[in-house]
Amino acid sequence: MAYPPPRTDSGPPPHLAGGRLTIDLDALTANYRLLAQRSAPAEASAVLKADAYGLGLAPAAWALWAAGCRRFFVALPHEGVALRAVLAEAEIFVLAGLFAVEAAAAYREARLIPVLNSQSDLSLWEAHGWDDERPRPCAVHVDTGMNRLGLTPERARALAEENALTGALTPILVMSHLACADTPGHPLNRRQLESFQSVRALFPQSESSLCNSAGIFLGGDFLCDVTRPGIALYGGTPVTGAANPMRVVATAETRVVQVRRAMAGETASYGATPLQRDSIIAVCSTGYADGYHRAASGAGVPLRQTAAKGFIHGQRVPVLGRVTMDLTLFDVTELGPDAVTVGDHIELFGPNMPIDEVAEGAGTVSYELLTSLGRRYHRDYVGGES
Ligand SMILES: *Cc1c(COP(=O)(O)O)cnc(C)c1O
Repeated sequence: MAYPPPRTDSGPPPHLAGGRLTIDLDALTANYRLLAQRSAPAEASAVLKADAYGLGLAPAAWALWAAGCRRFFVALPHEGVALRAVLAEAEIFVLAGLFAVEAAAAYREARLIPVLNSQSDLSLWEAHGWDDERPRPCAVHVDTGMNRLGLTPERARALAEENALTGALTPILVMSHLACADTPGHPLNRRQLESFQSVRALFPQSESSLCNSAGIFLGGDFLCDVTRPGIALYGGTPVTGAANPMRVVATAETRVVQVRRAMAGETASYGATPLQRDSIIAVCSTGYADGYHRAASGAGVPLRQTAAKGFIHGQRVPVLGRVTMDLTLFDVTELGPDAVTVGDHIELFGPNMPIDEVAEGAGTVSYELLTSLGRRYHRDYVGGES
């Protein structure tokens, strides 16, 4: 079934916003297709947790459905309910499991499939799961090395034996999660695969799933039946340090609201970062409240060796001094006088400033930059018409 494009929340209008965020839905679907190819013969699902990694659940879900994706993972029950309102027919898995007996009705009404992670999840779903053609459909998460969520392999084995007798649950998917998939040579990858393979054999009726974005690039046996890409859909590099094969989905730009000149020996921003030279400073109207992390702060700030950089008029420009809540200073001295003017925009990340480099400059990962974007940017959703 085709869906009409959902109403999208484009945030404040551009002339009232401190920055703009452009979200390219064609790039998103191209990324999905590439990941689906790399996943074959497995089927690629899509992970839409945390508001589609900050980029907007409804437009992302709709575009991915149009691109042929039929299975989706969210983290929390309320995200599953929101996704059901966008996609009536999708298969929706909730990674966090069931939470509490009070949540079961919402799972039933929205036809959500819990990923059962613990004994209490198992008991709750046996008592309160929904039935259609199949009783209490669920996914079973087995922990193979993260010590985060999931049954131990021993508990999974016991479950498989019990359930073969009682048929109380229909585990349509058995899954695990890799701890080091972005480091292809890490020995834990293979150990987790072997542990997972022995568990998955206990559930012959179920499909299996092991790979996040990075796992897909491990290929081979890792792929199992279903892959679960997240970050690579949204343009983040799946494998640390390797060339990024994904298209840019999100471009964040900040508005220049003032251009100042300051002399060597003066200071900039909180904590008074001393200026080493006569400087031209572009004052920009986004800050850490917009997910431009304070840790992206510039040279001269204690513990920061290198600042994150922005991009304007063909050049990279470093953050100067501390990032503040609503404002960030960029050192645009190298561009020369009058090159940058009020009303210009500096790209924070996008086609010219890869998000993974910015994340590195801020001591974090692309995931955190995307999911912290917040609601103050004006958002332009482009593409996705087909
Ligand atoms: C977030 C998550 C994914 C997606 O991971 P990416 O690294 O973003 O591709 C897959 N599986 C589980 C269990 C997750 O929590």
